[in-house]
Amino acid sequence: MDIWIYVNHREDEIEETTFGLTAEAQRLLEESGQPGRITAVALGPVAVPVLETLGHYGVERVLHANTDGMERYQGEVFAQALVGVVQQETPACLLMAQTAETEDLAQRVAASCDTALVTRAMNFNLTAEGKALAIRPVANGYLFEDLELDACPAPIVLFLPAVLLDTAPSRETAAEVNVVAFEVAAEDLKTRTVEVIEAAPEDLDLEEADIIVAAGRGIGKGEAFGNVQALAKAIGGSVGATRPIIDWGLAEYERQIGQTGKYVAPRLIINLGISGANEYTAGMEKAQQVIAIDSNPRVRMFRFADLGVVGDVHEILPLLISRIEEHK
Ligand SMILES: Cc1cc2nc3c(=O)[nH]c(=O)nc-3n(C[C@H](O)[C@H](O)[C@H](O)COP(=O)(O)OP(=O)(O)OC[C@H]3O[C@@H](n4cnc5c(N)ncnc54)[C@H](O)[C@@H]3O)c2cc1C
Repeated sequence: MDIWIYVNHREDEIEETTFGLTAEAQRLLEESGQPGRITAVALGPVAVPVLETLGHYGVERVLHANTDGMERYQGEVFAQALVGVVQQETPACLLMAQTAETEDLAQRVAASCDTALVTRAMNFNLTAEGKALAIRPVANGYLFEDLELDACPAPIVLFLPAVLLDTAPSRETAAEVNVVAFEVAAEDLKTRTVEVIEAAPEDLDLEEADIIVAAGRGIGKGEAFGNVQALAKAIGGSVGATRPIIDWGLAEYERQIGQTGKYVAPRLIINLGISGANEYTAGMEKAQQVIAIDSNPRVRMFRFADLGVVGDVHEILPLLISRIEEHK
């Protein structure tokens, strides 16, 4: 049995969620009781010694495709490369950690290979009877779906990053890195990148953001959300939110942090009127510095905070914004 995982990497570093996928792949192999291996697929520029370290997490071989036009994610190019390798072999499944990029990529590959695809998976199993089963939250975590997927051709499973476990290296062996020859003719592409435009920090994708200002139910339905956006703008941060804020329609779903939202790892996150429910903190545990402002001194969020401020966000926010503006 060959379990495939997709490597998320940035600036020559493999992202933590990829190691979490190795643990999922290992579990599937153990549960199958069959001999097998884990194959990783890496696309785009990443150094071979970096890919070799995947061996420490149980990966036997890495298939690596990198060519001109793969410096940054381009859906058509990456999908062609991935479809090429998937169709040459017979993996049991392809596991990915869900990001905006892998979501786009997986849909393209599933359509081209005519395979089953599950996004936002919390659990995935391959049974002895040859079934592929997955569980995923729907209706923003208010319901869960049990899914049965066609096991052949190999289903593609996108895991919610928050369910992927922190995984430590367990062996010394290096993975074998096989370079996959891949070329793409620029004139055959249906989309071309004309210009790369830098997003304003407050609109930046939460997964990319260095600073996040996150709003919770404590900010209320009134004008305070405007102050949250103003604070984010003043300090060059991106706006995040808890589920109640999304439910109220104050922010788009793509701004939700947590188990059923985005999984973020900023240098700084400022949590405003957020109690710190498990489902929220699961998505922000990797933040380096945490500031929390809440009126309740016993709130769980303070356990995660490097700096906790007890007070009313409606009073503190305007003062904070004007003080920051003064210092600018
Ligand atoms: C399966 C499942 C998945 C879920 N997924 C997610 C998810 O991905 N993301 C997510 O966020 N939630 C998720 N939830 C919901 C989660 O359990 C919590 O209900 C939610 O995170 C609470 O959001 P909150 O902290 O904004 O609100 P609350 O828990 O209501 O907290 C509001 C906070 O504001 C404080 N406050 C009130 N007024 C003020 C004031 N004037 N000034 C300062 N502080 C004030 C209060 O003291 C309180 O601490 C999920 C739930 C389930 C069951």
